[in-house]
Amino acid sequence: MARYTESQCRLCRREGEKLYLKGDRCYGEKCSFSKRSYAPGQHGAAAARKKRSEYGLQLREKEKVRRIYGVLEKQFRLYYKAAVRKGGVTGENLLVLLESRLDNVVYRAGLANSRNEARQLVLHGHYTVNGRKVNIPSFLVKKGDVIAVTAKSKKSPKYQAIAELAAVKSLPDWLTLDKDNLVATVVETPTRESIDIPIEEHLIVEFYSR
Ligand code: SF4
Repeated sequence: MARYTESQCRLCRREGEKLYLKGDRCYGEKCSFSKRSYAPGQHGAAAARKKRSEYGLQLREKEKVRRIYGVLEKQFRLYYKAAVRKGGVTGENLLVLLESRLDNVVYRAGLANSRNEARQLVLHGHYTVNGRKVNIPSFLVKKGDVIAVTAKSKKSPKYQAIAELAAVKSLPDWLTLDKDNLVATVVETPTRESIDIPIEEHLIVEFYSR
């Protein structure tokens, strides 16, 4: 399966803002972006001072969101097309679709330290949806779905650490978590308002509408 191989911290520096791709590390002193907040490479610092064109702004916003959710271009474009077909506000539809991915829900519920970790854990079959094992990170959850850590995985030291993380993590209002049993429930469909990442989705719509 295709995936990013570039250092995740380089992605933040490329986008010129923190994308919070590495869990706890992003909030501490070890965050690379806190130390060097300009694009990587020989001319990175000079590039950061350059004013971006309208196209550049649209492209960078699209790339930023793609990287936050860990989605490759081809799949991201498919999400965009699905968002258009849904009718209503395309940008909001797009974000809600991304937010509904199983790997994102696992992360948002506190059942993984980052979206990237959630993706790996989903791929390795550590979660069930409504009692059935699902190992597809892009699986779209819906209202009423119940996501749980498998009984076998729950006994591992990894999930003991995750249980400690989940105990203190604040959840979006569309999710609940049974912290003792590591079971999350999607109580509502995610909304644009519940997505707390600074995103200008209209720029993405403009990018694909060109
Ligand atoms: Fe980005 Fe996190 Fe790396 Fe900081 S630590 S540069 S926020 S991925």
